[in-house]
Amino acid sequence: MKKNTKRKKVLIAGAAGFIGSHLCDRFMNEGYQVVAMDNLITGSLQNISHLFKEENFSFHHHDVSKFVHVPGKLDYILHFASPASPIDYLKMPIQTLKVGSLGTHNLLGLAKEKNARILIASTSEVYGDPLEHPQNENYWGNVNPIGPRGVYDEAKRFQEAMTMAYQRYHGLETRIVRIFNTYGPRMRVNDGRALPAFISQALTGRDITVFGDGSQTRSFCYISDMVEGILKILFGDYALPVNVGNPNEITILEFAKEILRLIPESNSKIIYKDLPVDDPQQRRPDIQLISKLYNWKPEVARTRGIELTIPYFKNKLNA
Ligand code: UDP
Repeated sequence: MKKNTKRKKVLIAGAAGFIGSHLCDRFMNEGYQVVAMDNLITGSLQNISHLFKEENFSFHHHDVSKFVHVPGKLDYILHFASPASPIDYLKMPIQTLKVGSLGTHNLLGLAKEKNARILIASTSEVYGDPLEHPQNENYWGNVNPIGPRGVYDEAKRFQEAMTMAYQRYHGLETRIVRIFNTYGPRMRVNDGRALPAFISQALTGRDITVFGDGSQTRSFCYISDMVEGILKILFGDYALPVNVGNPNEITILEFAKEILRLIPESNSKIIYKDLPVDDPQQRRPDIQLISKLYNWKPEVARTRGIELTIPYFKNKLNA
């Protein structure tokens, strides 16, 4: 049977990743035709395999750093393709730079060709190791361009610049989301980030590796809140960057202890390791803009979100 062409059609780049796959679910539930694209260097087909049987879902194994072709119309494009955890972009520095720059250029060109609205996943990393706290959208950031994180931070800053240029020069409909730390099911067990590391260490009785003295802070947003915020921005009228995240800030040491409390059967101990180079000392989103524009605020408290996430890791680890 021919696909229903009246459906709105969305291309999701990075569809097999953590946030990308949750976006696929959401757009499928909303009745869209979803074209999913991923080169699978950090994403996993397991995150979207449940959608393969759906008529309105298709998957394309493709690297968006190379020319992107999608036949037919497109209403929306979401660019969520990139290695996104510090150890991933340290292992894949060139791919990280390419997907943020060349990949963004290709998808902007595709959006122009299809007359589609495009949303770009940017990041709190554009603020670097911030000298202003909390971070609002007017802050220009404090980034070391040549440090190990520079490959991600600068690619994302370039991505924002390129996106604004297409909006101003070509009149393209663009949206930029600055995503702060996000967590939930489908994060990779071994992606090296704090939450997957701490939960899997706690579940398998290994030491909990706190980097530095653990006094650095982060603010963790549950995936369902993030997806809701992204959709509000996509469908809203505001084209400049918007922060999305949960402003509830916690030190990494407290976060490790909280996870241990939520896995009471664990006998893991906290140990301290070297702080990675250029690790931001503090991070908390100022979410006044998105609250004012779209009346969005996070709904899922951190302990609840962690409780919702632990079973996923238990299952993955057979713990
Ligand atoms: N971190 C840690 N132990 C780990 C992994 C991360 O103490 O095993 C720290 C890391 O140094 C950083 C914070 O947790 O200060 C958040 O790191 P993550 O990699 O989750 O993301 P980031 O916010 O740095 O991009």
